[in-house]
Amino acid sequence: MNRTNELPSLSLAETKLQSLPLGSIKPEGWLKNQLKIQANGFTGHLDEHWEDVGPNNGWLGGSGDSWERGPYYLDGLVPLAYLLEDQQLIEKARPWIEWTLNSQREDGSFGPNHLTTVNLECDDNVDMDQQDWWQEIIMLKVLTQYQEATNDERVIPFLIRYFHYLKEAIEKVPLREWAQARGADLLLSIQWLHEKTKDPSLLELAETVRTQTIDWSSIFAKFPYWRKQYEWNHRTHVVNVAMGIKAPAVFFRQTNDVMEKEAVYKGIESLMTYHGQAHGMFSGDEWLSGTHPSQGIELCAVVEYMFSLEQIIRILGDGSFADILEKVAFNALPAAISPTWDSHQYDQQVNQIMCNAAKRPWVNGPDANMFGLEPHFGCCTSNMHQGWPKFVTSLWMSTQDGGLAAISYAPCKVLTTVEKGIGVELTVQSDYPFREHVTIDLSVSKETRFPLNLRIPRWCKAPIIKVNGTRMEVQVENGFACLNQFWSNNDQIELSLPMEVELNERNNSAVSVERGPLVYVLPLGEQWVCVQERERFHDWEIYPKSAWRYALLENAEFKLETGELTSQPFRAETAPIKLMTKGQLISNWVMEKNSAGAPPLNPRPYEKGRAEALELVPYGCARLRIGEFPVIR
Ligand SMILES: [Zn+2]
Repeated sequence: MNRTNELPSLSLAETKLQSLPLGSIKPEGWLKNQLKIQANGFTGHLDEHWEDVGPNNGWLGGSGDSWERGPYYLDGLVPLAYLLEDQQLIEKARPWIEWTLNSQREDGSFGPNHLTTVNLECDDNVDMDQQDWWQEIIMLKVLTQYQEATNDERVIPFLIRYFHYLKEAIEKVPLREWAQARGADLLLSIQWLHEKTKDPSLLELAETVRTQTIDWSSIFAKFPYWRKQYEWNHRTHVVNVAMGIKAPAVFFRQTNDVMEKEAVYKGIESLMTYHGQAHGMFSGDEWLSGTHPSQGIELCAVVEYMFSLEQIIRILGDGSFADILEKVAFNALPAAISPTWDSHQYDQQVNQIMCNAAKRPWVNGPDANMFGLEPHFGCCTSNMHQGWPKFVTSLWMSTQDGGLAAISYAPCKVLTTVEKGIGVELTVQSDYPFREHVTIDLSVSKETRFPLNLRIPRWCKAPIIKVNGTRMEVQVENGFACLNQFWSNNDQIELSLPMEVELNERNNSAVSVERGPLVYVLPLGEQWVCVQERERFHDWEIYPKSAWRYALLENAEFKLETGELTSQPFRAETAPIKLMTKGQLISNWVMEKNSAGAPPLNPRPYEKGRAEALELVPYGCARLRIGEFPVIR
């Protein structure tokens, strides 16, 4: 897509929505609890127990890991610290930020990896095979967040110097390998700085980066990877794909080529057709791996897909992407992490009947679906922290016409300004997605008119919006209902998003069960067996304590049961919402490669078997589960 030599006009298209600076949106209710659990678990203590991000890390001046792990950890730790206003976490992040800011060399380069320092004066001495821009790309994302939260005056001059350096350096040492696949993440920081400085040379750099990045627009416009992939390829590496899906939208800001916009839609559609899973992610147990519900989905891909969707929503302003974001955030994210955030999986499976060291249908190691400190490989251990904090930061955005847009209705407080600098405070009270009702209380520094856009999810057929008790007409455009009116202090919006049970047809006539943004599964009894004990973060195998070979009965009813919302709603024993239905054990569903085989097309109930009551819980509650069921017809 316009990757030839013709010079595009150098400008940056406006995004449809704008992110609010980190800290403008504070988590409340269950979401705040989730962040606190994270802070009390891995994110707040990883550096004390995992050498890779410990005091000897290269990004702290040590001789340890100097690649992606430190920056990955900070990419979640920094927003978490400032969202919780947790002084201990802020102090934990500080040495990393200080070391990084102080590491800038005279030429503008920074970071511990001296191999990336390009000596611009001696062209011939650049060892091309040793250059990697990737770890810096992550640290740039950290610094932009840190600047938003603190207004630290050092950050913008630091970035100006670095990009000035990069503009020359990247011509001599182009993006390669991971950086070539993930160039869109570098563009996000360049575009971020351009919005602040309007320096036209940044757009020249942005063009160079765009043309050096893998052409994701062409890949997604005419998607070639229809089958499970087996070979090393950056274009089918699941994390790269999860990151690359935002590339066409990021490119679009520079090219204004409408084909790039369409490539995002086509790409997601193709990914779901050929590799889609019940929780809204596409599979990839290293490479894209098809629609079988026992294939793996890497935790890095989950958090990166969330971040990509947040950026796509901001750029394209289409609420339908938030439907996907919620589905991934409320299902795939919590499922791969223990309820106390002290162990996690590398690969999760929709039908996950056992988590243990065993051969499974993937190239990843036998421990990839175990819960632990660093099962299979430590990328997820360092990268998982960004999921919830960045979701919080994307709950609300501002619109170009001086208004606000609700992206998701998880509980939060928003403190921002609208047109003419008028201060607005929104308090979103809800137990969404576990409940259907949302209340938004407004407080404004002065009565004023501005558009308030409420996202209406596609699954919701009969939304109800009331302003101060008066029911409003709901007209949905681009996934949002717009209330453009005068707002005054103590105005209250009530939103009701009725959820209905929907059965989603999968391969082999199997189904997954959805209600609103939550996917419902049959939880299996879990026996957690500690296989490696450490001081704090242990490794676990999980064995099933109950039968898993259940089919659902066609036409069986689903009865809703609600329970108390505890501080950790993603726990099977205390699930805040359940669906009661009927199912039956079947004889012809077998285990293959230590996983549930494909759901049989014609499930055969046991001769003397009988229908049983089944209790389905949200996907994110169950670490062992059946999420894709055969149906007895
Ligand atoms: Zn990973």
